[in-house]
Amino acid sequence: MGWANLNFMVYDFVIIGSGYGGMSAAALLAKSGFSVLILESHTVIGGCASFFKRKDFVFDVGATTLSGVLPNQPLGILFNELEIQPKMRKLEPGMKIHFGKKTLTRYADKEKWIYESENFFESKKQSDFWNKIFEIDSDVWGFLQNNKQLPPKSILDLIRLVKFSNFPKVGLLQGIFLPMEFLLEKYGLGKDLLFRKFIDEQLLITTQNTSKDAPFVPSAMGLAYPSETYYPFGGMVEPLRLVAEKFAEFGGEIKFKEKVTNLAQNKEGFKVTTEKGNSFQAKNVVSNIPIWNLAKITEGQIQNYFQSESEKFQDAWGAFTLNFGIESKGKITTSYHQIHVEKEIPFCNSGSIFVSFSQPDDIVKAPEGWQTVTISTHTDVKNWESLSKENYQEQKEIVTNFILTEFDKVFEELREAEKMFVLASSPNTFEFYTNREKGFVGGIPHSVKKNLLTLPSGITSFKNLFLVGDTVFPGQGVPAVVLSALNVWRKIVG
Ligand SMILES: Cc1cc2nc3c(=O)[nH]c(=O)nc-3n(C[C@H](O)[C@H](O)[C@H](O)COP(=O)(O)OP(=O)(O)OC[C@H]3O[C@@H](n4cnc5c(N)ncnc54)[C@H](O)[C@@H]3O)c2cc1C
Repeated sequence: MGWANLNFMVYDFVIIGSGYGGMSAAALLAKSGFSVLILESHTVIGGCASFFKRKDFVFDVGATTLSGVLPNQPLGILFNELEIQPKMRKLEPGMKIHFGKKTLTRYADKEKWIYESENFFESKKQSDFWNKIFEIDSDVWGFLQNNKQLPPKSILDLIRLVKFSNFPKVGLLQGIFLPMEFLLEKYGLGKDLLFRKFIDEQLLITTQNTSKDAPFVPSAMGLAYPSETYYPFGGMVEPLRLVAEKFAEFGGEIKFKEKVTNLAQNKEGFKVTTEKGNSFQAKNVVSNIPIWNLAKITEGQIQNYFQSESEKFQDAWGAFTLNFGIESKGKITTSYHQIHVEKEIPFCNSGSIFVSFSQPDDIVKAPEGWQTVTISTHTDVKNWESLSKENYQEQKEIVTNFILTEFDKVFEELREAEKMFVLASSPNTFEFYTNREKGFVGGIPHSVKKNLLTLPSGITSFKNLFLVGDTVFPGQGVPAVVLSALNVWRKIVG
């Protein structure tokens, strides 16, 4: 072994990956006085919520909407713990949904929203349904804030939790096992096909599943989020940059371009080895990489566990994204839009695209008079596997042109506006930049068949090994990922 490979320091924690999960866990642990080293394979932090620059533009690579920032929600708790105040703007409306020429405005104000929805759809009696959705959302956040022993690991644990904690209502428990369809039927909305399509497309961007199979508790939280949607100035990575600054202040260390290729248990804890041949000794490891990747870098019993978890959860999504700058002259003030398309998007498996505009006054993201646009949709990663270079390029172009045509139909006022840097990404791009196996993003879809309680727990049964991120409880999306970090931190510090 050469001198360059030796590292005599024994860290309390090595964190693999600096996405929202890893970076949040790292900063909290460093704040608690532990020595912490992050090993990150890319050159910047953020993973699926990261950024890239082209000239005067800063583009989000994936995530664009910030939520979960209220004081009793994961990002709110994180910001409070680290005493940081990211620059963000609460949006009203939270989102606009476009069906052909018709637009449904997702007002943040709950009463205004219910009024709008009742006027838009055939079903005119929706208030009981929406009030239930908001009630579940508020109850669950209150419960999550106060419980340090999550997730329960068995039905017995769950019963104890319900009996002895502030579990909101026993009735809610069924919302882990029953689909959203159950609530739609209960409130007489199941037969309104347009309403159902709307709900399904909204659920796809939050639970990664549709009303037939998505459990109603996470579904309700997904449906409630446009009431508290925030725009992060400078991009989705900006709040995380503040977390990283705090991490450095607390003495944390981060090494970029260090892709972890082996994780081996030893007497002192774990030896973590990277592609460059560097090895680091840690008493504990927190992994922020997906379970599918962990199956590739572990050994023995640990590897067996991750292999079997990976096989159990193989039906994750990939994403196709499009980024560009547009000379909008500040015309688009609502940042988030969902466009329902008539025909399925070619090579993708979705009936909608999600369009995010930077706020007109966010001059970090785009020069004055311009805005950035990030568009994403779901795709099956298999559609992008084993293609020749030519076929891959051609397929990307077909999807790009389809999406741009739909964009032009909705944003007529921008039809003549100049676009710069029209850049497309497929699951292959995500795999290249984030290392996520097969380009699977958005975590594990919420499903009644594989309910929340079957998700891998961040507190593993392997001594000194912890997991955070969107493939562990409670699942996908930045708030859930930060909650996984809070759960691990609370477990460690007691
Ligand atoms: C297109 C798209 C849109 C989305 N929109 C939203 C949204 O609007 N709002 C929202 O809340 N969520 C959204 N999400 C989901 C959200 O982005 C993710 O759930 C979340 O960012 C995942 O964070 P993470 O920490 O679990 O993992 P990641 O972000 O994947 O971070 C993992 C990190 O580990 C690094 N890494 C990987 N392998 C190794 C290795 N071997 N060694 C060292 N480092 C490694 C990666 O480079 C990366 O930095 C979206 C996701 C996508 C793809």
